[in-house]
Amino acid sequence: MNMSIECYVTECKYNNNIEKYCTLNKIKVTKHTDLVCSNLQETDCSSFERSNESL
Ligand code: SF4
Repeated sequence: MNMSIECYVTECKYNNNIEKYCTLNKIKVTKHTDLVCSNLQETDCSSFERSNESL
């Protein structure tokens, strides 16, 4: 568990669902626009992978 990466995406296989932290040592954050990013909806964790447990 990485106490520097708090995350509430419990559907992700790397999420610690109890403590709400990422378990990876590092993550990659990307943006969803080729233009200048202007709000949080245009950013995202691209290290996300769907957990089979929450299907
Ligand atoms: S990989 Fe990204 S979405 Fe998944 S738990 Fe870590 S920070 Fe959250």
